[in-house]
Amino acid sequence: MTSFSNLNLNPKILAALEKKGYITPTPIQLQAIPSVLDGRDLLGIAQTGTGKTAAFSLPILHNLAKSGISVKSGCVRALILSPTRELASQISENIDAYSKDLNLRHAVIYGGVSDRAQITSLQRGVDILIATPGRLMDLASQGYIRFMQVEVLVLDEADRMLDMGFINDINKIIAKIPQKRQTLFFSATMPTAITTLSKSILTDPVRVEVTPQSTTVERIDQKVMFVEKRDKLALLRNILRQEDATSVIVFSKTKHGADDVEEFLDRNRISVAAIHGDKDQDQREKSLNRFREGKIKVLVATDVAARGIDIPAISHVINYDIPSDPESYVHRIGRTARAGRQGVAISFCDPHDDTLLLAVEKAINFKIPVDDSHAFASKSRAPAAKHVGEKSRAKPAVKFDEKKPPHKENHAAPKKKKVGILDLILNFFKGEKLSKKPEAKNPERKHPPRPEKRESNRERPRPKRNNKPIERTGGMKLSSGNKR
Ligand code: AMP
Repeated sequence: MTSFSNLNLNPKILAALEKKGYITPTPIQLQAIPSVLDGRDLLGIAQTGTGKTAAFSLPILHNLAKSGISVKSGCVRALILSPTRELASQISENIDAYSKDLNLRHAVIYGGVSDRAQITSLQRGVDILIATPGRLMDLASQGYIRFMQVEVLVLDEADRMLDMGFINDINKIIAKIPQKRQTLFFSATMPTAITTLSKSILTDPVRVEVTPQSTTVERIDQKVMFVEKRDKLALLRNILRQEDATSVIVFSKTKHGADDVEEFLDRNRISVAAIHGDKDQDQREKSLNRFREGKIKVLVATDVAARGIDIPAISHVINYDIPSDPESYVHRIGRTARAGRQGVAISFCDPHDDTLLLAVEKAINFKIPVDDSHAFASKSRAPAAKHVGEKSRAKPAVKFDEKKPPHKENHAAPKKKKVGILDLILNFFKGEKLSKKPEAKNPERKHPPRPEKRESNRERPRPKRNNKPIERTGGMKLSSGNKR
């Protein structure tokens, strides 16, 4: 098995990795590190959880330390762009750990906090700058950052950056960076816009593709629990009281919802903090740190606030609400089962969110198993009833088939009348033409009765799907509607 020591990395970096407890490189590290050390451009199709941060930062650190060029005031040698401040600080923490004994400076800049300290560290010049595009453009336009020394550019989570509307900022930044540079481009998905962008900025890149979803997701025990809205808090409390729920992220669709959950758990003496857009950066960082250190058991978060969170030991992800954007489901559950661990992802689905659940399942190409062993399952079955059980989800009780009236109705249909030769002769003389198929005259047969009305959406025949794990790349081009 290849170990980090076979990758020709600086011994000081190897020592830092050992300290961090990394023994073997992950697949993306194995594939990317040698090419990046060689100065090649890289297209990495991978998401967080694969070890991609180390895949780009270790060879960058090695090369920067090797060349020993000193960085000028206001200048940067390696620029790493991240879509969110959480991911940016995460990358910064990793680089901090890997570069402990190297004589390299790094800084992280993002919006939502004062820029004073950021400006001070930039003025000295930094070897590595990790930045969100907005704050970077802001400080660059004020003359605090100069790009002429940039040797390496990293675009991390490029698809997220595009989703978040950073494309113009990114193009402006790239236009300022010397053309002679090394570019490393990471994206979890490759929609057309991302492919176009990658082609325009990469030169003869090495392509490295890992399918973390299938490996990560295989380790995640996914379940859906049907529960009425009014019972969600109590169900959550029950789950959190179970022994194995040691470190739990609860995802809420709204900030208000996140506050409600926080308040309820707090009242029930379960240690909790909420992070969302209304909390300032300081509060968010504090909550994250307390959660990371195990001082609080539950972190309630909205999707935006949780992006980029990297806490290896999360035991459970609970989707208090099914996300309305199916892609968020993948990002949410990817918070657990990190760095080779196991994890549980439970989604609460109230009967009204049925369509959202179907959209998620369609997007991930996986039918999430139903867990109806909880205390509130029976209540949520009525009236949305029969759709809770796995069986009825797989096999609709009433099949809708326009051509074939339901079985029951066929029983009610008039029986075929036998038409003998004598009847024909008699009727001929009566002047009446008799069909050999008398039922064709029956109006009921011409307009077969409609099948019974289904009780709910979940009774609908579900499209055939493979019960195979999610395949990330190419599988997440989602259309919002999932009307079946
Ligand atoms: P990333 O995909 O970069 O967000 O990394 C996901 C998690 O895996 C982080 O917690 C890293 O610290 C951890 N990690 C990265 N590389 C390794 C490795 N080779 N061995 C063990 N853990 C790792």
